[in-house]
Amino acid sequence: MLLDTPTNLISDLKINHFFDPQSKFTYEEYIQKAIQYVSKFLDNENFYSGESSGNLVSKKSLISAHPNEVLSIEDALNEIKELYLDHAISFHHPNYVAHLNCPVLLPAIVGDLIASSVNTAVETWDQSTSATLIEQEMIRWICSQMKLPETSDGVFTSGGTQSNFMGLLIARDHYAFKHYALNLKENGWSDIVSKFRFFCSDKAHFSIKKNAALLGMGYNAVIPVSTDDKMKMQPEALVQAIEKEKQSGNIPIAIVGTAGTTDFGSFDPLITISKIAKEYDIWFHVDGAYGGCYVLTETHKNVLAGIEQADSITIDFHKTMFQPVCSSAFLTRDTNHFRYVSHYADYLNPKEQRDSSSPNLIEKSIQTTRRFDALKLWFTLKMTGEKTIGHFLEKVHYLALDLYHSIKYDTNFEVAHKPELSTLVFRYKAEGVESDTIHDTINLYIKNTLFKSGQASVASTKMNGKTYLKFTLLNPKSTIEDLLNIIQMIKQTASTYTTNN
Ligand SMILES: *Cc1c(COP(=O)(O)O)cnc(C)c1O
Repeated sequence: MLLDTPTNLISDLKINHFFDPQSKFTYEEYIQKAIQYVSKFLDNENFYSGESSGNLVSKKSLISAHPNEVLSIEDALNEIKELYLDHAISFHHPNYVAHLNCPVLLPAIVGDLIASSVNTAVETWDQSTSATLIEQEMIRWICSQMKLPETSDGVFTSGGTQSNFMGLLIARDHYAFKHYALNLKENGWSDIVSKFRFFCSDKAHFSIKKNAALLGMGYNAVIPVSTDDKMKMQPEALVQAIEKEKQSGNIPIAIVGTAGTTDFGSFDPLITISKIAKEYDIWFHVDGAYGGCYVLTETHKNVLAGIEQADSITIDFHKTMFQPVCSSAFLTRDTNHFRYVSHYADYLNPKEQRDSSSPNLIEKSIQTTRRFDALKLWFTLKMTGEKTIGHFLEKVHYLALDLYHSIKYDTNFEVAHKPELSTLVFRYKAEGVESDTIHDTINLYIKNTLFKSGQASVASTKMNGKTYLKFTLLNPKSTIEDLLNIIQMIKQTASTYTTNN
């Protein structure tokens, strides 16, 4: 018999690189060796090596140094140590207080390793079986924490940005269907849609505008509503904005309330907003990417009240449930709303073969192939438990409050707000300096100098056009002493600016 496959292709198959029964011992060996390198990453002293970007760019040659030669596991790990692990940012480090990156929990890492190895795709029942049930169970759990009705449902997403996208898309298509009998999914754009308007606070996440643009509606379809001195949406301003849009012939279709703004951790008044949404008969989406998980705490139950009235909710487990990226969910109060994104493909989930005992989650997602991200949450809930997670979140909130009280009366600092969650926005004020521009420059200098030296990572943001520093606290093991140490570094760095410039 004449075979088409060349013999060199067959001999390459002897390499034990596939996850299969023949590679069982190689799998264990590789994973154990990799784990040793990752453990060594934990020995890195600073949150960052401080290696200059120029030096990192020059190391890039390592990536393609041996195009014809494959590496052993040891050599590959050694290279990636030099190229990446030695310079990766440690989110667990007490001096990392920049963005919404949390230290991750070990049970979640175990879940992620299993999910990556087995490589289940939670897309159709025939690719996932019980993984689908586990994802649905995690969704049921969070829906019940949010006190959503029995009809509610949800799906895991890649992050808050995608969850907000789904919220806006479903709000729009539902409005078009309900009020104009338009089927946008089927027939596409209709001119009336150019008049549709979303409302959110002027402190809402940028993904609201970005998603409106991706939906073809443009940034201007999002009307920013002014906030009070606690950075919360003002309900009177919301009503005025809605009325104003109506008067100019536009059509309000949804309000986005933020439960935990990215910069200030502020919560919009959800109960009042939900009533306004009901009055105008429009969609109420809650962006709880940052603050949603605080539903597990005693401290924040009251500020989340009203979220149970939401038509849809965004929640990010990779921010405030100590999960590795990605782990996030989109929830909706009525599972039927998923019809605006569902599609039936002959080769995957033919409509005529629908069977509620073997669901296809693809019908709820805007993705097709999708990771089994719910597994890490399952391990976390089983091994760490929701009560402890709640305490971790309370801890970082109190840390932010302690820091606030510690620097509030320090004449070197101007604090922008009292923390409602776990961020603190403030700026360094050099003595005797009046000019805001100079203050802006000094604060940016502080941030950049601390980062480049590998000493500390602090974020910056703007308020009323002025530059501020921001601490985002997500490490429950940090202490107030750790934070005051960074404050000391900030003062020290600021003093070098004055002498150097
Ligand atoms: C971080 C954040 C998002 C975006 O979430 P990703 O997971 O980064 O896509 C949306 N909304 C708020 C309030 C956030 O803080």
